[in-house]
Amino acid sequence: MSIQKRAVVIGGGFGGLAAAIRLQSMGFATTLLEKNTQLGGRAGRIREKGYVFDAGPSLITAPTVIDALYKSAGTTLAQRLPLVALDPYYRVHFHDGTWIDYSGDAESMKAQMRRFDVRDAQAYDRFQADADPVRRTVMSDALGGAPLDTWGKMLRFVPKALKLKAFLPLHFHVSRYFRNFRHRFLFSFHPLFIGGDPFRSPSIYRMISSLEKVEGVWFTPGGMHSLVESLASLFQEKGGQILLGSEVERIVVDNGRAEAVVAQGVEHPADLVVSNADVGHTYRDLVPISARTTWTDRRIEKLDQSMSCFLLYLGVKRRYDKLHHHTLILSERYRELVRDIFERKILPDDFSLYLHTPTRTDPTLAPEGCESIYVLSPVANNKSGIDWEKEKDRYAAKILEFLEAWGLEGLRENLEVCKIVTPDHFEHDLNSLDGNAFGISPGLLQTGVLRPHNRSEDVPNLYFVGAGTHPGAGVPGVLLSAQAMEKCVREDFGDRP
Ligand SMILES: Cc1cc2nc3c(=O)[nH]c(=O)nc-3n(C[C@H](O)[C@H](O)[C@H](O)COP(=O)(O)OP(=O)(O)OC[C@H]3O[C@@H](n4cnc5c(N)ncnc54)[C@H](O)[C@@H]3O)c2cc1C
Repeated sequence: MSIQKRAVVIGGGFGGLAAAIRLQSMGFATTLLEKNTQLGGRAGRIREKGYVFDAGPSLITAPTVIDALYKSAGTTLAQRLPLVALDPYYRVHFHDGTWIDYSGDAESMKAQMRRFDVRDAQAYDRFQADADPVRRTVMSDALGGAPLDTWGKMLRFVPKALKLKAFLPLHFHVSRYFRNFRHRFLFSFHPLFIGGDPFRSPSIYRMISSLEKVEGVWFTPGGMHSLVESLASLFQEKGGQILLGSEVERIVVDNGRAEAVVAQGVEHPADLVVSNADVGHTYRDLVPISARTTWTDRRIEKLDQSMSCFLLYLGVKRRYDKLHHHTLILSERYRELVRDIFERKILPDDFSLYLHTPTRTDPTLAPEGCESIYVLSPVANNKSGIDWEKEKDRYAAKILEFLEAWGLEGLRENLEVCKIVTPDHFEHDLNSLDGNAFGISPGLLQTGVLRPHNRSEDVPNLYFVGAGTHPGAGVPGVLLSAQAMEKCVREDFGDRP
């Protein structure tokens, strides 16, 4: 009788859960170790005084990618989780009082764009047609969902990428189609959703808006954390083991291979280890320095970490019809605000904010007649040196004052919950280097073969999933990283481990 091989997954974010499901379904006896007392990582759930908040991700996109994960475990997304389509996807308010309801409906988009620039509206179809092959290439098995770990594989993609102009900076590329500032923003800002600078991220990331257009934007009752719960149940039904409050302290490497993982003083033997924790944290803090020749401390220090987020979770005892399920409120400054966050790393005086108000779709997430809102202000990561303990109350007060002036009347006097989360949460509670909110940044020099690989170069039976590895951040990207990890494991252990 052969002994079942054992896999240990470090971290219970979307990446870790997806990896655990795939490994358990392949036949590995899989244990998932999560530092915190709740699964989900960035996708945690906060409950206070009857208000329920998704801590981080809020837009469900690319349901086909989620479905592929369920299918790997012999079920389907439709069997396990109801999805509600959102239309529009979000309302974007500009500084001058104008707004656009952004959606995948071409006719509605063109009609709205025509109000601002007829020529831009005419360019919409061409822009989408040009973005479509980029989306199909990334979403195909060969790129997003497969390891991209050799220059040979990368070079096979280069001629196509050049033809698709996938390496040009996204904002520059979008400006070749649209001249109105509103449209330039709408079709270039998506890298911000995954922690990247729209002026420097390559235009391959226009596949995000293309993906939203083709596959829609969705919500599930209870919010994004319901997806976390559904995946955790699936993993446990398949026989997987989850240990919460188990912070991994060390990966035991012997003769160049990962032999075990130590958490809270307990050693968990493993035939293979998958880390869903921050890549820099995993190498620097968990893998012994003697086992690392590629991922030296110096190389980790040089990684360009993504931006971070300042978040307010607001329970408000009144409703605001001005808010949509997803609302963006933009400052007049775009390029300079992005520079403040990514280059100057300072706290600006103006804001561009994203508001998530799930009670617009699911009123059960707050007491009757009340609103559950989270406000996200993109901010610099902790390389900024900002002392958040000192700054957080002042910054929160400024945001609340701004939102009242913008149109949320009586916001402060109706607050029942006001919870503040700063980049320190990402750094200390989630072990993310420099408090990054989205792993390492998605710049050209950290994309494709240049991004941390799904199989470690230093320890061959150590694998990586999650936002900081290939293909990148965002729930679809992270789920695809688990697909790529599975391919590596099948190459190394065969189809029947
Ligand atoms: C505010 C915000 C809003 C977002 N909105 C969206 C959105 O609307 N749609 C979307 O698709 N994406 C969104 N994203 C991005 C998306 O949430 C992330 O890319 C994704 O959830 C990251 O998943 P992950 O598995 O890589 O990492 P994580 O969720 O961070 O999981 C890593 C886990 O590892 C654990 N861990 C770390 N170190 C250890 C250790 N030593 N031992 C044990 N466990 C450890 C952590 O506690 C954590 O649970 C958003 C992100 C943020 C921050």
